[in-house]
Amino acid sequence: MFAKILIANRGEIAVRVARACKEMGITPVAIYSDADRTALHVAHAYEAYRVGGPESRESYLNVASILSACRESGADAVHPGYGFLAENADFAQACADAGVAFIGPSASAIRAMGNKLAARAAMKKAGVPTVPGSDGPVTDARDAARVATSIGYPVLLKAAAGGGGKGMRVVRGEKEFDAALKLTSGEAGAAFGDASVYIEKFIERPKHVEIQVMADAHGNVVTYGERECSMQRRYQKVIEEAPSPVVTPEMRAALSDAARKAAIAVGYVGAGTVEFIVDSERRFFFLEMNTRLQVEHPVTEMVYGVDLVKQQIEVAGGAPLAVQQSDVVPRGHAIEMRVYAEDPAHGFLPSIGTIKRLVLPQGPGVRNENGVYEGYEIPIYYDPMLGKVVVYADTRVDAIQRARRALREYRCEPVRTNVDFLLWALNEGAFVDGNYDTKHIESHFEPSKLHQRDEEVELAAIAAAIAAFDYRSTVRYATLDESKDGAWRRAARADATKRWSR
Ligand code: ADP
Repeated sequence: MFAKILIANRGEIAVRVARACKEMGITPVAIYSDADRTALHVAHAYEAYRVGGPESRESYLNVASILSACRESGADAVHPGYGFLAENADFAQACADAGVAFIGPSASAIRAMGNKLAARAAMKKAGVPTVPGSDGPVTDARDAARVATSIGYPVLLKAAAGGGGKGMRVVRGEKEFDAALKLTSGEAGAAFGDASVYIEKFIERPKHVEIQVMADAHGNVVTYGERECSMQRRYQKVIEEAPSPVVTPEMRAALSDAARKAAIAVGYVGAGTVEFIVDSERRFFFLEMNTRLQVEHPVTEMVYGVDLVKQQIEVAGGAPLAVQQSDVVPRGHAIEMRVYAEDPAHGFLPSIGTIKRLVLPQGPGVRNENGVYEGYEIPIYYDPMLGKVVVYADTRVDAIQRARRALREYRCEPVRTNVDFLLWALNEGAFVDGNYDTKHIESHFEPSKLHQRDEEVELAAIAAAIAAFDYRSTVRYATLDESKDGAWRRAARADATKRWSR
């Protein structure tokens, strides 16, 4: 097993990985940019190395600098977390070439899944259902329109190299095609260095469901059920839960079988996630495979009683998986809420500044994957996610109640957070029913709805009204007995009357 792991990341996920290392007797090594000298993840590591300036490209994306930190620290493995270099095949290869184990799949598996078109082709071949669409890239608007007509409008133009919810455009009719193709392709070229785009049927009001896969280097693959990730804003997940409220045991088996085929098709080793889009008739189609640990991995950990980070480290070290598929049984329900430093009342603008007060929720069934502390100044350079609140309970109903309770305990001041927005989402009828889709937020959220249905705010208002009423009654009652009062009491009453009878 490894003696020292360099964590090529920051924030809550770097803290998460450091914790797993310590529990396994492995020395965690942090890297940091100039903006992160005092970041929480640095404090959680036993050693830390500066890798460059505050911009990501100077530090957390700086391969040469990270490899030199590996050499200097003597780390024998690198954990990339998610984001940054986690799905960069060249980085995985550079680690291997430098004799450092990359905790993730091989560079070739990352490449096979990194390009959406190549992945679609590989999945079709492996017998995994894909969204109807073009077989290859489309360049000519007339050809593209022909494909669109054959699968039916609306369609989605997607950048083959896209990611992070970017590089997608809906086309609803032939007339829009020419302009849409030029725009999407131009944007893709600028953002991803690859202008190729292809067509997929645009599935209206879909659900996003994904399967967690874990594979070792000895040919064993296990799947840990699904996560429901349909609560999205701008194609980005906000709340995730496991299990999905709409997946039946039969559907879980079919999804898991497809995910297993996907992993085997590319010779996958490590933790990976196969994402599916589900239409209103519960047909599912392969979207993409994320060849890394997912932000929302904790909900799977809670429901399956597994530590996915430790398992990643074990299989990267060559150990065979200690679990068998028949041992993998879900129990209870987990919900994760991503807490961001942003202002939902004002267009979700990032809110930066120094955290003066931070109270994280506690109590039964609450887990914090947090990346900040009281006194910490949030830098402007990175993703504004402060951390994740994860709750676990025996049933979905109890988990929702617990999630609301936990969010109401969350305090982060004076920085604005999306906590009230998350409470709004948890209170939505569609969420409670489980019938929500990826468009729910877009079509239902308005800033005026913040606080509207939060029963604790209502209770506080009622309590305040009762207190004020009581106080006034007391004052009025006291005035009836004026003759019995002494001078001190009269003076106090005069003062109180002045203050409360306004
Ligand atoms: P990325 O790599 O940018 O995350 P994905 O292909 O995983 O892109 O898609 C992200 C989200 O975009 C999905 O969760 C879903 O909400 C939406 N989406 C993707 N493809 C389709 C489609 N064919 N029809 C409708 N929505 C889609």
